[in-house]
Formats: sequence, C-alpha cells, structure tokens
Amino acid sequence: MLLQQLHEGRCEVENQYTRLVQPEGNLNALSAMRQVFEVRDRFEWRGLGDIAVSGLKIRADYAAFDAEQKFALPGQQVADHRACQCGEILKGVLKPWQCKVFGTACTPEHPIGACMVSSEGACAAYYKYGRLSITKPATTAPTEVTV
Ligand code: SF4
Repeated sequence: MLLQQLHEGRCEVENQYTRLVQPEGNLNALSAMRQVFEVRDRFEWRGLGDIAVSGLKIRADYAAFDAEQKFALPGQQVADHRACQCGEILKGVLKPWQCKVFGTACTPEHPIGACMVSSEGACAAYYKYGRLSITKPATTAPTEVTV
C-alpha cells in the first residue's frame, strides 16, 4: 500500500485491516473455539466480581487438557488491596490518575493492583504514556495530579 501511494503520488492514512478482519470474524477460529470451549455459568473477574455467563471453560471432551480438572485447584480467592480501584478503572468510572495511590504507592515497579501489573494494564499504560506530572502531597492532602 505504501508503494502504491508512492507510485500514485499520494500521502495519506489508509486502513486495510479489513483485508484480514471481516465483520463475521474468523469463522475457522470461531468454530475451533466452539468445539473446545463452552460458556461458564458464572466467572469471578478480578476487580469486577462475579458475573454470569461471562467466561469460557474447556468442554468435557477436552478435560485432559483442562488444568482446573487436572490439578483440582482449590478456588482460592485473593482480595484486592482496599486502596485499589481497579474495578472502577475497568468499568470506566474512574481514570487511573484518580486512584489515590496511582504513581505514589502504586507504580509498575511496586504494583498494588492488577491494572498496574502488566504493561497493557490501564494504570500501567497511563503511568508510562499518560504524560502525567505527579506531585506527591506535602501533607495528608490528597495526591495532586496534573494532566
Ligand atoms: S493505581 Fe494501582 S491501586 Fe490504583 S487502581 Fe490502579 S492498580 Fe489499583
């Protein structure tokens, strides 16, 4: 496409994602997924809680590949830190910098919540790319964040 633009003396943004991604999706991949996975009755998402029909599980035919079956996991629950507002971040109710510990107690080097752990997490991405100037509070006042 770049060569075509060069050849035609054009210089513009073009999106040819549609050459690979169709509105109906990848039918082969969807068929394979339907064969191996089925919808769970419910699933507990970190920061969001228990949501009905919101996740997949491996079908019984493929139980030999199912770690949940193979290792009899005890269903441990790990509560989020009480200062963490990942749930609100994930729901779009708050922006990462609105969390009281964003960039102070919670950083990519010392994450408190899941949103700061991986580089794709909303808080980690805002921390790295958000061009935020963070001023640590001089007293017990809330953290001041300038965008
Ligand atoms: S900044 Fe840290 S503690 Fe606050 S919501 Fe994000 S991950 Fe959770």
